[in-house]
Amino acid sequence: MIVRKLGIDLGTANTLVFIPKKGIVINEPSVVAISEDDNRVLAIGAEAREMLGRTPEMIKIYKPLKDGVIADYRVTEAMIRYFINKAIGSWRLFKPDLVISVPVGVTSTERRAVIDAAREAGAREVYVAREPILAALGAGVPINSPAGNMIVNIGGGTTEVAIISLGGIVSWSSVRIAGNKMDEAIADYIKRKYNLAIGERTAEAIKMKIGTALPIKKKEELEIRGLDLGEGLPKNIVLNANEIAEAIDLPLKDIVQAVKSVLAETPPELAADVMERGLLISGGGALLHNINELITKVTGVPSFIADEPLYCVAKGTGIILDNLDLYKKSISTYR
Ligand code: ADP
Ligand code: MG
Repeated sequence: MIVRKLGIDLGTANTLVFIPKKGIVINEPSVVAISEDDNRVLAIGAEAREMLGRTPEMIKIYKPLKDGVIADYRVTEAMIRYFINKAIGSWRLFKPDLVISVPVGVTSTERRAVIDAAREAGAREVYVAREPILAALGAGVPINSPAGNMIVNIGGGTTEVAIISLGGIVSWSSVRIAGNKMDEAIADYIKRKYNLAIGERTAEAIKMKIGTALPIKKKEELEIRGLDLGEGLPKNIVLNANEIAEAIDLPLKDIVQAVKSVLAETPPELAADVMERGLLISGGGALLHNINELITKVTGVPSFIADEPLYCVAKGTGIILDNLDLYKKSISTYR
């Protein structure tokens, strides 16, 4: 199959590649390993992530989109090239057209940097679309309708909140508080309470297994292993879900605050639409138990988890690729 179009969800935590009629063909962490001495790219994606926390001094692990902006142009380009090649092979007759996600708050310079990086990496036409637009499309929202639709995308590095109407973003907020901050909060909590050190991947695993945004009645426990900071030896402890709710309370408050601030600055008619239809939560953070209940409880807006929240942005790129004309208002490019 000759692939002439592909979509890339360039996330702070995960990069997904979507090919029309095929679906998601790549889903790997947005991580690059670089050797310090000669600045060579050693590994990208899953392989690079395996090195995290286990690297000798000479290897540096980059998350080039850590806070939702391109922190390192060269590394980002290498990453885009790697993912395009992996998706469709490095030998090809045609350069593919690309739809690629950018954070809602990108400046025109950053947008240009993404387009240049993708061109350098072998794309022909490059269209960029802002993440909430793609997330909403992938979640099945009719973004071109004149009603107000609210989307809350909770990723690894950023939470993006937007109200969309007539194919455009009416009001938005982007905060650098999302999954990673929850992981850090869990590690801090365990250190404070148990004098135990855990790595970021353990903290993330705890969140995924027993994390909850609101306290629960059911008894949910998990045994974990860390390093006792007093004795300097490995030690096991049992955590319960409500401890995790307590640990991540602050980052969650900030996320909910972002939702409230966007509602507050939205024109009343559109806000009324949202109150009536509810808001949709996408991104990996949507999988945190009870996150929709928390948002509903604090904001009063009925909140729903999008179908396959981790795939919404990637699916959104596919919808745009198939209907460039219909969504031309929501994408940008330059020649
Ligand atoms: P990005 O778009 O920034 O790359 P993603 O949408 O891929 O981010 O989401 C990644 C985040 O989602 C990570 O912080 C990850 O820990 C979190 N996540 C994934 N699954 C779950 C889960 N079951 N519960 C809570 N958080 C989760
Ligand atoms: Mg994302």
